Amino acid sequence: MSRIGQFYVLCAPSGTGKSTLVRRLTREFPSVRFSVSYTTRAPREGEVHGKDYFFTDKDEFMRLAGQGFFAEWAEVHGNCYGTPLEFTRGLAEQGFDVLFDIDVQGARQLKESLPGACFAMLLPPSRASLEARLRGRGTDDEATIAKRMRNAAGELAAADMFDYWIVNDDLEKAYDSLRAVYLARTLVPSADPGQVSRLLAQWEGAS
Ligand code: ADP
Ligand code: 5GP
Repeated sequence: MSRIGQFYVLCAPSGTGKSTLVRRLTREFPSVRFSVSYTTRAPREGEVHGKDYFFTDKDEFMRLAGQGFFAEWAEVHGNCYGTPLEFTRGLAEQGFDVLFDIDVQGARQLKESLPGACFAMLLPPSRASLEARLRGRGTDDEATIAKRMRNAAGELAAADMFDYWIVNDDLEKAYDSLRAVYLARTLVPSADPGQVSRLLAQWEGAS
């Protein structure tokens, strides 16, 4: 396969709608693969090991971190989360575009190690709607919701490092924007550096 997979880093305060939009993008485009992270957080109802996350305990996580297993890792809302390096590298080498749903600490680390990646931040329309979404999701207790709301301001304060800001007010509009960012990025020359040479080769020897 001549195409080289592109990296997409999507960040947002917890509850903004990242997972919802990522699910849609991976469903519409088989060329996109979700980077499945490791986490010490307990699985939520319906979450599948190996699909949503690789669930692990703190000892195993720290052992892997010490071995350089993660492309980046961070403690977020009191749990550890990390991106497995070989898993994502393997996907890109197979030509898949790889989407990272990570926090801003992780995005900062990837900005160093993957400077060519596309960095997009999803914004909630307001503080109140973010809180309503966290509560409406029904997966977190009040203490967890309060912690995630406090941390949201810190995530938003890092918005300047992103290439794109997408407001998730109307879900359809937000999805259209994410889709547009995705598609535009698939067209950068570095995604298929040999494309024009292959085209030009058709002129060689032609009269
Ligand atoms: P995240 O992955 O960013 O933590 P989720 O995708 O789990 O967020 O979304 C949090 C909650 O908000 C879910 O219940 C989801 O259905 C809901 N949601 C997502 N986008 C919208 C939107 N545009 N309008 C209203 N609710 C939304
Ligand atoms: P949740 O517990 O809601 O699934 O995720 C909490 C936060 O952890 C989200 O902001 C999510 O983007 C982030 N996260 C998930 N996986 C990773 C990862 O591998 N690395 C980092 N740094 N953050 C992650």
